[in-house]
Amino acid sequence: MKILFLSSEVVPWSKTGGLADVAGALPQALAALGHEVLVATPHYGSISPEGLEPAGPPLTLRFPFGQETATFHLASPAPGYRVLFVGNPRFFARDGIYGDAFGEFGDNHRRFAFFTMAALSGSQRMNFPAEIVHLNDWQTGLAALALRRGYRGTALEHAKTVFTIHNLAYQGVYPKSAMDDLGLPWDVFVTGGVEFYDQLSFLKAALSYSDALTTVSERYAEEIRTPEAGWGVDGLLRGRSRDLHGILNGVDVEEWNPATDPHLPARFQARDLSGKDVCKRALLAEYGLPAEPAAPLFGIISRMVSQKGFDILLPVVRRLLSEGTGMRLVVLGTGEPRFEGAFQELARSFPDKVAVRIGYDVGLSHRIEAGSDFFFMPSLYEPCGLNQMYSLLYGTLPIVRAVGGLDDTVRDFSEPGGNGVKFAAFNEEALYEATTRALTLYGQPARLGEVRRVGMGADFSWSRSAARYVSLYESLLSASAVPKARKAK
Ligand code: ADP
Repeated sequence: MKILFLSSEVVPWSKTGGLADVAGALPQALAALGHEVLVATPHYGSISPEGLEPAGPPLTLRFPFGQETATFHLASPAPGYRVLFVGNPRFFARDGIYGDAFGEFGDNHRRFAFFTMAALSGSQRMNFPAEIVHLNDWQTGLAALALRRGYRGTALEHAKTVFTIHNLAYQGVYPKSAMDDLGLPWDVFVTGGVEFYDQLSFLKAALSYSDALTTVSERYAEEIRTPEAGWGVDGLLRGRSRDLHGILNGVDVEEWNPATDPHLPARFQARDLSGKDVCKRALLAEYGLPAEPAAPLFGIISRMVSQKGFDILLPVVRRLLSEGTGMRLVVLGTGEPRFEGAFQELARSFPDKVAVRIGYDVGLSHRIEAGSDFFFMPSLYEPCGLNQMYSLLYGTLPIVRAVGGLDDTVRDFSEPGGNGVKFAAFNEEALYEATTRALTLYGQPARLGEVRRVGMGADFSWSRSAARYVSLYESLLSASAVPKARKAK
């Protein structure tokens, strides 16, 4: 099968969150299964030209807002796996992917409409007759509309579209004047099309016009069909229930393997965790905390946004620290200033127990996963979540709320086969109770070791998830093949 995969971020070239991890790993796993995958992504200014080849002459696209030129570069990291970088200095040579220190860029609708159309045209110029066009999040949503409406007589005419929701909260909603700015046909500005409360929604373009919809865990696929977690599109999703599939993300088990991880001061595996103790001591030292490896160490690596549950976490941690539980906390993240400030304030109040790094640091994120005993993820909602899976593989027990992918991957240690700590209600009491249970477990090393080993033995590899995407693609292609075959008779 030939699969064109569109994503606004792709590891290792660009990343703000889990979408980039998926876009970096799933296409490779599909290629390993024998498929040919072309990933298209914007050529951000931060992407180093090293290893990229020019891929054909520039292409000029005309929009009502103006004429823009796309450049194309190609990386070919593995057989069957290529990445097409769509460049335009005005749109992509900036600091930041979606915004900068001043907030979201005001022209994101133009930037991603341009990227999407240039990616579709660029793939055709490369003679890549995709059978499946796999779209990801709102930034790529207009491609579903474009493919439904146009591309007759081209290699993409019969392509089937799959749209994956990585986070339903981000929707790409713009004033309806953007319809004319982008040259979209007004007949699609209807409830069953791109209209959302009298505005243009890129997400709705994808939800209305894609052949199949997926999201990144089974539990999230259920949740987004309810008004509580449906962000205003739950009705549309309920209507498309038959086309909506939950496929749990995998993780890159080569990058996230404590037995081989080059970011760690010592390596370890389930049958011998002594290297994990070395990692813990080194992590305390790296954060400038006193060397007290007997104290339970909690880690956080996160975008600092309210989705991640910091409104309940901050007061609970403060309370537990004041009660003298002996817990230690190391934090890595960037995001909303109010959360960054609150963590820094916590570190000032408990300088021997809490340390915070504001920033984005891949190596440190590996060392936190390896050196911590517990990992906090009390999310309000979580489509899939990756850090709880990394934690499990690194023998670090995740403390999670039973929501989305967290619920699908973590089982409370009080149950048979338990691998972490889980609580249900989104409130301080529930998180406090879960954390005190974790602290009690920490006092029972044999039991703690058993629970750790369950998580370390889990299979979160991409090959499993990739096989599910392949069956979905095949079912779309065979469904469309039937009427054509009948017609031919
Ligand atoms: P989301 O996509 O909502 O941010 P996920 O858990 O799905 O959450 O993915 C987050 C990814 O980003 C993980 O790979 C995580 O390790 C990484 N990450 C988040 N913040 C940082 C940071 N400050 N430094 C390094 N990695 C980070």
